[in-house]
Amino acid sequence: MLELRPNCECCDADLPPETREAMICTFECTFCQDCAQAMAFTCPNCGGELVRRPIRPAQKLTANPPSGRRVLRAEPCDHFKIAAAATRAT
Ligand SMILES: [Zn+2]
Ligand SMILES: [Zn+2]
Repeated sequence: MLELRPNCECCDADLPPETREAMICTFECTFCQDCAQAMAFTCPNCGGELVRRPIRPAQKLTANPPSGRRVLRAEPCDHFKIAAAATRAT
């Protein structure tokens, strides 16, 4: 079962289980769509593909709750700083 981690590993954005913005790799490294796009949908941890995390139906969440464990990369993601700067510029 997917962990459904609650945040982006790069920018710590909240990624609730119902969001369509969560992107994961096969190891469930979890990123927001903005970070995934900036990394060309390649996981910076394992080099694998990042794909959209499927939505778990709301009625299944009670018995199968999402992970509450926030995972953050030890090292900051370079792409994120670039993306953040670009966002601020607009
Ligand atoms: Zn992010
Ligand atoms: Zn990964």
